[in-house]
Amino acid sequence: MDNVTLTAVSKTQPPEAIDAALAAGQRVFGENRVQEAQGRWNDRRGGIPDLELRLIGPLQSNKAADAVALFDVIETLDRPKLADALAAAGARLGKPVRVLIQVNTGAEPQKAGVLPGDVVALIDYARATGLIVEGLMCIPPADEAPGPHFALLRKIAHRHGLAVLSMGMSGDYETAIRFGATHVRVGSSLFGERKAPETPSRD
Ligand SMILES: *Cc1c(COP(=O)(O)O)cnc(C)c1O
Repeated sequence: MDNVTLTAVSKTQPPEAIDAALAAGQRVFGENRVQEAQGRWNDRRGGIPDLELRLIGPLQSNKAADAVALFDVIETLDRPKLADALAAAGARLGKPVRVLIQVNTGAEPQKAGVLPGDVVALIDYARATGLIVEGLMCIPPADEAPGPHFALLRKIAHRHGLAVLSMGMSGDYETAIRFGATHVRVGSSLFGERKAPETPSRD
């Protein structure tokens, strides 16, 4: 995994697990909910200057300011309205806002992300608002082989000169790395199964 960054997905993990990962030298963490992440990281983050927090879950525009304040990178930009809210929050805080665009590679109706055909327009829009678009992120459909989805994400990224590819989770990160992932988001195979059940929520 030489050129691959491990994003440790710390959602729902107890404090001991977070502290153990930090003690082992892990510095890049992914969270999928703003409020939960605030509770987990607000107190820790001051003591760890090289910490990098990445938001990997869907974001509501009304939480954009909190997200920009806490996170170093927001991986789930998927619509112009959210780009506006993030850019406004960044301007208010005087903080450059780094984003990835989430692509719904499987065109699943229930899933967040912009459709592959709409990525270019959103890249252009986001850049025009002043956001720093670093790359793309995807979550392939659970019931399909992930390879073609990773290949599609890579193709779109390369076509638009985007360097960062956030793809691959516990079940498929090895495949994702073969397809050029620069960031893999791994939770359960790093920390063990999550304790609390996940409830779907947009935050
Ligand atoms: C929870 C989550 C992960 C990590 O999933 P695991 O299967 O536990 O590795 C990765 N990406 C996103 C977007 C997630 O919500």
